[in-house]
Amino acid sequence: MRWLTAARTDRGRKRSSNEDAFSLRADLGFFALADGMGGHAAGEVASQMAVDRMTEEYLAAGSDALAPEELEATLIAATQRANAAIFERSERELDKAGMGTTLTTLALVPAERVCRLAHVGDSRAYRLRADTLVQLTTDHTWVQQQVQLGRLSPNLARHHPFANIVTRALGIKGEVDVDVVRGELQPGDVFLLCSDGLTGMLPDGEIGEILAAAATPEDAVAALVDAANAAGGYDNITAIVVRMLERGSR
Ligand code: CA
Repeated sequence: MRWLTAARTDRGRKRSSNEDAFSLRADLGFFALADGMGGHAAGEVASQMAVDRMTEEYLAAGSDALAPEELEATLIAATQRANAAIFERSERELDKAGMGTTLTTLALVPAERVCRLAHVGDSRAYRLRADTLVQLTTDHTWVQQQVQLGRLSPNLARHHPFANIVTRALGIKGEVDVDVVRGELQPGDVFLLCSDGLTGMLPDGEIGEILAAAATPEDAVAALVDAANAAGGYDNITAIVVRMLERGSR
């Protein structure tokens, strides 16, 4: 299997800086996205540390040649080590106190036609297949907990005053629980990794329509960022799009 990919990050219309970060190794089928939080530019430090550490660990493990089970263990361990590194730095440097970040990673195993996701926080991964958009990750947020308890509808959750309260992030404690999501790869599948600056601005229906209409991943990420900005651009916006192709197709 082959794939096409593109990414874009944008400050949005209200924020003075961009605390999102991403890493994209198209050749290896490795994609990571982080959304940092913390004052004095510490959020930028946390998110960059997260994606850099994740990429280094992936490369060091030779993960593009790993079996899915080993890849899964590598992604979990790498996320935990990124967490520990950010936490230690936040303890050591006063101006980094309390910094944290989300981290969502997608790794493809084309030989087995599967993928693995490792996820902490409220950035998201989606898959568009046959015009149906499915959210692959579960947000680690207070509003998501309320949705699961049946106390909030997903649409009300998106606009809730507490929508940005994250219940799990990297850098907050010495250890972190990591969600793993397993998926299969089919030709035509489109994967999206994005920060909440996209999903807070656009309902899933609109995200799915934009992904389905875009001719290329490059067009998709541009259209997603433009639509989030047109809807207000209240937060930093980052999107990574990966489209699976058949071998030999273009
Ligand atoms: Ca954000």
